[in-house]
Amino acid sequence: IRVQGKVYYGSISKPSRILGTLLDITEFKRLQQQKDDFISVASHELKTPMTSIKASMQLLDRLIKVDPTSDKIPQFIDRGNSSLNKMLQLVDGLLNVSKISAGQLALQKTYFSAASMINECCDHIRLAGTHTLVLEGDTGLELHADRDRIEQVIVNFVNNAVKYAPDSHNIIINLGKANDMAKISVQDFGRGISPEYLPHLFERYYRVDSSGIQYSGLGLGLYISAEIIKRHGGKMGVESEVGKGSTFWFTIPLA
Ligand code: ADP
Repeated sequence: IRVQGKVYYGSISKPSRILGTLLDITEFKRLQQQKDDFISVASHELKTPMTSIKASMQLLDRLIKVDPTSDKIPQFIDRGNSSLNKMLQLVDGLLNVSKISAGQLALQKTYFSAASMINECCDHIRLAGTHTLVLEGDTGLELHADRDRIEQVIVNFVNNAVKYAPDSHNIIINLGKANDMAKISVQDFGRGISPEYLPHLFERYYRVDSSGIQYSGLGLGLYISAEIIKRHGGKMGVESEVGKGSTFWFTIPLA
């Protein structure tokens, strides 16, 4: 506790009156600690792809000098490119957070088919071949929303399913309607999340495994997704059972 104010003395030099405020700095310290942790995690997350780009460039430089037609050249260029994409994603995440804080997350709404949007934005899953996306429910569902932003939410759910449920083969995306709202959910059959963590998942910087040893990340994806859904006038939620898997869902007003 920090005390701020003035002490008034009586005639016998003993304090007769203290006027001031008691400031609880526990919360202030927690936020400061969270900020410090975030800066260290963010620097580490950015440094990893940067180190990989540097190594690829050095190897490319050496290779081109020795054998300018080497068939290994495209491999190093691909590696550098994917690290650059990783960096761009991280920086985009940070920029999104600044936009949210400044209240500048503008939406540009159009009409589009949910199924074709999902097929386009999740093509990378098919190409990677590690998981199978199963589209279920009302595949004729039409949305009136900011297509890029809704894609961002779905890609975040799907990428998390791939990252946190590596051995779960199927990822089920369900399209439907609930209480006059469009509802989309993404279900995986991975390790699931313990109930005590669930209320915090959509907080800024929150990660279940905050050490980042097992999985890398900044804890921003779900926070940004929840803000996007809120701006659309919808709701976002999660149901999960340890050892069985998780279902992340959102609703937005029907088109
Ligand atoms: P990040 O993945 O960068 O940590 P997110 O905001 O996307 O950030 O996710 C926050 C946390 O929620 C993750 O750190 C992870 O612990 C947990 N999480 C998200 N999706 C899943 C999932 N499908 N299965 C298990 N845990 C998940």
